[in-house]
Amino acid sequence: MDQYLMLILLALHTVAVACFAWAAVMEFEQRADNDVVRVKTGYLGIIEQKDHLADEKKQLQAEADRIFQMFELTREVTATFDEQEAFMAFREHMSRFLTVEDCQMLEHFPQDFNDFPLFKGYKFFPLRINKMVLGEIAYKGMADADEEAFTVLVHQFALGLRRIRLYHEVENLAITDGLTQMHTRRHLGERFEEEFRRATLRQVPLSVLMIDVDHFKKVNDQYGHLTGDMLLRAVARIILEHIREIDIAGRYGGEEFCLLLLDTDKPGALVVAERIREAIHAKGIKAYDAAIRVSVSIGVSSLPDDAAKVEELLDKADWALYRAKRSGRNRVVGFSVYPPENINPG
Ligand code: GH3
Ligand code: MG
Ligand code: MG
Repeated sequence: MDQYLMLILLALHTVAVACFAWAAVMEFEQRADNDVVRVKTGYLGIIEQKDHLADEKKQLQAEADRIFQMFELTREVTATFDEQEAFMAFREHMSRFLTVEDCQMLEHFPQDFNDFPLFKGYKFFPLRINKMVLGEIAYKGMADADEEAFTVLVHQFALGLRRIRLYHEVENLAITDGLTQMHTRRHLGERFEEEFRRATLRQVPLSVLMIDVDHFKKVNDQYGHLTGDMLLRAVARIILEHIREIDIAGRYGGEEFCLLLLDTDKPGALVVAERIREAIHAKGIKAYDAAIRVSVSIGVSSLPDDAAKVEELLDKADWALYRAKRSGRNRVVGFSVYPPENINPG
């Protein structure tokens, strides 16, 4: 009997131990499952975050590309003060980044009916800064996906165009030329009108000298534009050293100067012109590392003999300058109805 009881107790004990062990295993499995789920969730989170970061990186890259494009465009467009050159730079830049078949700059939206057939199939986009319309871009064959970037680039170009126009407006208002410190052409024109009137009224002589540097293009080609600028400045200084305070000197064009010698008749003006010519040609002018020998041609016209109007007097000085160039440069020619007076054979 005792033996049976012992066996039953042993069996019960074994079952109890088995139950306990099973419960422990179950709990362990449950915990392991939970851990797996937690790790899996964490892993999925990291994957999601990685995708998100990849998207963000792509967006930042696109933004950086866009900013770089705008920077490049601005750099190219602002390298010039010429509207057409700026537009060419804009068009060239655009065709590098966007798909477009043709692109033109117009002063305004085509108003003439005859212009429309020329722009068949073109779209138009105003070059606008705030409310001011500076012109119109006509374009065709633009990929839809590029339209937005195009809008941004056109705006950037419009800013460049505005800068160019402002520069020319300021230049027009200026009295003194920045490079040579002589009067600007516009201001010289005003002074000329005044002095012409005064000389006619007082019946005193007045002379005009048109001075043009010979073969100046070659100087630029050989030594570069900066050296060319420095040379122009030096030529202007020599000219100013040879005229009086009361005379008026202006930069008429790139390498062309115009002088008004007050109370000076033609023979007197020819002497001054010859001194200027000689001084410029005497020795090489120092510009940076180079000593460059240049010459000038000079045309002279005078009141009261040569003209009755300002424009006529200028035209005649121009004509004499042309003769000086034609007859070999590095010389002074006075306007004359007879074969030109050439006081320096060169
Ligand atoms: P010519 O003897 O017939 O006058 O020949 P040229 O080479 O002087 O005449 P052309 O009119 O062919 O060239 C004038 C040159 O002057 C071309 C232009 O690049 C240069 N030029 C005009 N303005 C400036 C300027 O402000 N700075 C510099 N460096 N060059 C200028
Ligand atoms: Mg010249
Ligand atoms: Mg010239």
